Amino acid sequence: MIVIKGIAASPGISIGKAYVVEDEDIVVERVEIARDRVKEEVRRFKHAQKATLRDLDAAEQKVLKVLGKQHAKLIDAHRLILKDTLITQDVSKRIVGERVNAEFALSEALDQVNRQFEKMDDEFFRERRHDLFDVGKRLLLHLMKRQKRSLAEIEHECVLIVRNLLPSDTLGLKDTKILGFATDLGGKTSHTAILAQSLEIPAVVGLSDVSRRVKTGDLVVLDGEQGMVIINPGPETIAKYEKVQQRAVAEERSLESLKGLPAVTQDGRAFRLEANLDSPEELKNLVALQVDGIGLFRTEYLFLNRTEVPGEEEQAKAYSAVVKAMDGREVIIRTADIGGDRLSHIGIDGPKNETNPFMGLRGVRLFLRHLDLFKTQLRAILRASLKGKVRVMIPMVSSVGEVIATKKLLDQARAELAAEGLAFKEELELGIMVEIPSAAIHLDAFLPHVDFISIGTNDLIQYTLAVDRINEHVTHLYDPYHPAVVRLLDSVVQTAHKRGKWVGVCGEMTSDPRAVPLLVGLGVDAMSVSPRMFLRVKQAVRSLKHEPLKRLIAKAVNCSESDEVRRLLEQSQ
Ligand code: PEP
Ligand code: MG
Repeated sequence: MIVIKGIAASPGISIGKAYVVEDEDIVVERVEIARDRVKEEVRRFKHAQKATLRDLDAAEQKVLKVLGKQHAKLIDAHRLILKDTLITQDVSKRIVGERVNAEFALSEALDQVNRQFEKMDDEFFRERRHDLFDVGKRLLLHLMKRQKRSLAEIEHECVLIVRNLLPSDTLGLKDTKILGFATDLGGKTSHTAILAQSLEIPAVVGLSDVSRRVKTGDLVVLDGEQGMVIINPGPETIAKYEKVQQRAVAEERSLESLKGLPAVTQDGRAFRLEANLDSPEELKNLVALQVDGIGLFRTEYLFLNRTEVPGEEEQAKAYSAVVKAMDGREVIIRTADIGGDRLSHIGIDGPKNETNPFMGLRGVRLFLRHLDLFKTQLRAILRASLKGKVRVMIPMVSSVGEVIATKKLLDQARAELAAEGLAFKEELELGIMVEIPSAAIHLDAFLPHVDFISIGTNDLIQYTLAVDRINEHVTHLYDPYHPAVVRLLDSVVQTAHKRGKWVGVCGEMTSDPRAVPLLVGLGVDAMSVSPRMFLRVKQAVRSLKHEPLKRLIAKAVNCSESDEVRRLLEQSQ
């Protein structure tokens, strides 16, 4: 039995025979082109471009059908690559200048860009090179008149093992017999990982040499929770994982009965249990889950994967649809938190080439530089507030001045809308995300200016512990149970409650049932959970007692190490 550790890219467990797909070797030869044939060669390349564009249109239809609009934007990104000067100009220039065949000119151009990508420190951008290869490969196959390998042709259930899986291949996995996949390359933030999660296909990536170590037909266990692949597991291991699988299925079924029940502890402490919404496609699911509201509506999706700024009408329509669907339950719309790893291409003078993007021009800092953008979003939110119960929340707040500036802008937006005769609700509660230590430590100064706060544990932990949340080299230091984090959270909740302000939590910590006792003990008022974990978290809340956990927090804030905090929590179960 061999165990290989990688990066957990999409949760779930699959057990089955491995199917190893050899890297599709495309050998590109250099062929000299006679001077009088050069024009024809350029034309041949243009035809391949058109054929690739048609491929993308077809792929888009498929994505729209299978995954919805949000993911179809991936195809837009591929279209942009196809329009890049690398493809539209450089390749033709090489054909003409070097008098070489189109295949060779293209592969040389791709190699050059690959070398540039490889030098990038930012994992997110490094991973984007797979999108470039995806498009490049399509072009090459058209030039060579070859068919793209189809994974749909695999006729038996198997765990796919491959050096690298491109996003378009991943999309093709939807209606296949593939139980899960493991790759040598790839990171957690790649489109491949994101798509695998949406398709609910277990996946482990970044396994270095799994495609060489596994042979087709080997029995493998793919553990998408722990990020590992077990080759030729013994009967005991198989039995253990089969039990985990069965338990997961049974659990899913039993959780259904919790829909509509309140999130209240055994000793009667009630919590508002809400869900995070990252894209409108998930809205239907939230309604079906009967959530108490949307505690964090991430609006960044409107600003990413596009080159022009979303207008007020588009935004007002998008927000109104969400607010309407929630039918009177609260929707906390967060103004866009662009920057960090969420880089937009909307053409604003924004964060480019920052050495430390997470500490850079991000969230409210960026919007206070671009007041026009900020005001447009505030106006759209004000207009959507007519449709139900809306609150607005500002991300990445580090000083009181930012809140005051935002309020001033909000007043301006109100005055403008009124002057233009556009309807909106006067009352709009304003809150801040507490996700930067300065806001947490100095919270009493912020509270007179806001109606509520929501703790963004993802960033608060990152900034408190100085651990980049997407850097795989320091993930072991990213620790929600660090006593400093617990102490900070406790102080935030106490300070806000003393001033009569309610506290929500919307980071991933709410979606980890092991961390829920901590949040219950801290006595937060609301938790906003990722939809996949919503019912599981409700189950956890309903199984706990608030009073003993409150006493546990008093001990946890005096622990010297996170292991002690963990032990306390385990003992409390
Ligand atoms: C957070 O930081 O905890 C949070 C919810 O915001 P995001 O993950 O969008 O940065
Ligand atoms: Mg955040």
